[in-house]
Amino acid sequence: MNPVYSVIIPCYNEEAVIDESYKRLSRVMKDMAESYELVFVNDGSKDKTEEKLNAIQSQDKNVKVVHFARNGGHQIAVSAGIDYATGDALVIIDADLQDPPEIIPEMAAKWKEGYDVVYGKRKSRKGESFFKKFTAKTYYKVLQSLAGDIFPRDTGDFRLVDKRVADVIRNMPEHARYLRGMFAWAGFKQCPVEFERQERFAGETHYPLKKMIKLAMDGIISFSDKPLMLPLFLGIFFLLTAGIAFIASLIAMLFGVYTTPFVWLAELIIFIGGLILLSMGIQSRYMARIYEEVKFRPLYVVRETRGFEEDTK
Ligand code: UDP
Ligand code: MG
Repeated sequence: MNPVYSVIIPCYNEEAVIDESYKRLSRVMKDMAESYELVFVNDGSKDKTEEKLNAIQSQDKNVKVVHFARNGGHQIAVSAGIDYATGDALVIIDADLQDPPEIIPEMAAKWKEGYDVVYGKRKSRKGESFFKKFTAKTYYKVLQSLAGDIFPRDTGDFRLVDKRVADVIRNMPEHARYLRGMFAWAGFKQCPVEFERQERFAGETHYPLKKMIKLAMDGIISFSDKPLMLPLFLGIFFLLTAGIAFIASLIAMLFGVYTTPFVWLAELIIFIGGLILLSMGIQSRYMARIYEEVKFRPLYVVRETRGFEEDTK
């Protein structure tokens, strides 16, 4: 029998927190009095995370563990968890207790009301620097303006999703995975549950600036082709500039104003630059198209069918 809930916990060098998160998660899940599994994904940890997880797993049949052969990164670890999870509802939560497990029953209640995606919305970010708050805020604004308004703000990966939504994600084979974007893209009935982002229970962040930047870039590149419009706009701008300057110099010459050869040369250079940018811009429209195709995303996403032999509900 498949469990009702699957909780997916990605872990990378979390020996300092793993016992505590297991305890708190088990307590919350037991209180909910329905079947559940805890799917720990050990993302190639180099510390004692593996031993600790194996010890936990050997005495609790609700625990399942996936050990990666190498570090794949947070988004990949969660994706693996989604693949291995068998529950009707999947919960994604960090191992470090920054996402409080006590919110899960609230999420589950929303799910039972009929929501397919219940995402955790951060009311506040405790213990996070001004820099991180500021960059996060600016980033989400940029992302929303580039990718359209599908992305909820102040939202991480902490969420509960119905298995139908999980199936959509399982059918999105793209390698650069920006999961919160993929969930937003999938659609379905979504709603937030507010929570206070806690401080890390122990250990330290595995998201240094470099990884943050990579994740941020993945978000933009995976969900917007607008940056590829830049050469097109620049090319048109340069061609117009060169054209206007050329006409101005012609008129000046006709009226007998002396223009140095340098001006003509400058206009020629801007004109050629504009031509090059324009052709790059045209190429990048095709690149955008190729990129769209090679993501192999599903063409459409069905939420429910009725009246067929094999209904989804
Ligand atoms: N994590 C992972 N692989 C990595 C980095 C992080 O599985 O390469 C896990 C980590 O164990 C934690 C979650 O992803 O459960 C979030 O990471 P972290 O708390 O370090 O990031 P932060 O909360 O500081 O953004
Ligand atoms: Mg954390």
